[in-house]
Amino acid sequence: MRVKKLIGGTARAFLDFILPPCCLSCSARLASPNALCADCWRSLKFITGHKCSSCGYPFDFSLSSEQRSFRVCASCASRSRQFDRAVSALEYNESSKPLILAFKHGDRIDYARLFVGFLRRAGEELIGQADIIAPVPLHKARLRSRRYNQSALLCRELGEPSKIILDLLVRIKNTPPQAGNYRNRNRNLSGAFVLNSKYKRVVQGKNILLIDDVFTTGATAEKTAAILKKYGATSVSILTIARVVTPS
Ligand SMILES: [Zn+2]
Ligand SMILES: [Zn+2]
Repeated sequence: MRVKKLIGGTARAFLDFILPPCCLSCSARLASPNALCADCWRSLKFITGHKCSSCGYPFDFSLSSEQRSFRVCASCASRSRQFDRAVSALEYNESSKPLILAFKHGDRIDYARLFVGFLRRAGEELIGQADIIAPVPLHKARLRSRRYNQSALLCRELGEPSKIILDLLVRIKNTPPQAGNYRNRNRNLSGAFVLNSKYKRVVQGKNILLIDDVFTTGATAEKTAAILKKYGATSVSILTIARVVTPS
């Protein structure tokens, strides 16, 4: 499918004939590329309802009206957050997980356009308010083995070139992938990120939006926001494709 990007016009129409566009998830035939079929679309759980105004945790609609009046979840109420807002498009579940893992580890970089559509819908306000948009970085060893940073691909695909700084943050510690609870992750990520020294004066007074694939415990958002706040960022928010939803 990636071959199609290199060719246009008549050749593309011919390729569409011999390689018709397929659902990115189940390979069912579709009219247009980079999309999902109706069944796969329905299986995704978009976070569109009442949610924590800080970390984006979706509240249960079975809650009483009194409970639903809470603006933040129990987890955010129990600790002060370094980031201002976290917003995710989807719940990370059995439907979204295979898509995200294929994008992250399986060279399916053609998923970026689909995911950016999700990010734009969920994070329209954050994208509009941001002065700087940056990816959560990978450690150079992981970047070498994976060959690309999926968060940087999402930033590029967002189409906000004047706001994007791909090397704003640098990951100097190679941490194990998303394992453990908040406390373990927080400990593992201690000292993992630094601000690229050439941007030390750039972040002051800026609203910064970080892009990542999955919000798991919030430890990455906390650590990266703390660094940017230390150098004077006015606000730091994080926008992710999906969010792990566990009882808070
Ligand atoms: Zn499908
Ligand atoms: Zn919360």
